[in-house]
Amino acid sequence: MLVKGKKTLFQDFYFFETLTGMIITLKEFFFGTKVTISYPEERRQYSERLRGQHYIKATNGVENCTACMLCPTVCPSECIHIEAGERQDKEKYPKTFEIDILRCCFCGMCEEACPKDAIKLSTIMEMSTSYRPIYDRAFLSEQRGNK
Ligand code: SF4
Ligand code: SF4
Repeated sequence: MLVKGKKTLFQDFYFFETLTGMIITLKEFFFGTKVTISYPEERRQYSERLRGQHYIKATNGVENCTACMLCPTVCPSECIHIEAGERQDKEKYPKTFEIDILRCCFCGMCEEACPKDAIKLSTIMEMSTSYRPIYDRAFLSEQRGNK
């Protein structure tokens, strides 16, 4: 049978435990490691392996994408929408190229599947917006300039 020991008034108020907790809190408050940053003035350094915002690569000013539709086919989130057009040199190009970034899970499968090395994921993560972000062709090309 479990016999409970008699507690003193000092123990009843958990004085020692409360004091220890307060000392730890104050120590962390004044001398602890800083875990937050003042975004956007400060930016975090991400790993080179991070899969961040997409961009469309270009060669000699012409985007590599030939609207082959492989990336929307493999995309598990079905968040890529492409409409193909035809260029003067008879090569196809993406007349419309949109990524619904709120549905994207940043798996990188579009990048893996692309035979033209056109769609890439950067190490940039600037996702804070007040609207639903759809990355269109102009934005994806503009992002290339940040690389
Ligand atoms: S990273 Fe994955 S989920 Fe996002 S667009 Fe590419 S394939 Fe789709
Ligand atoms: S980005 Fe690559 S995989 Fe996607 S449509 Fe263009 S060429 Fe095809």
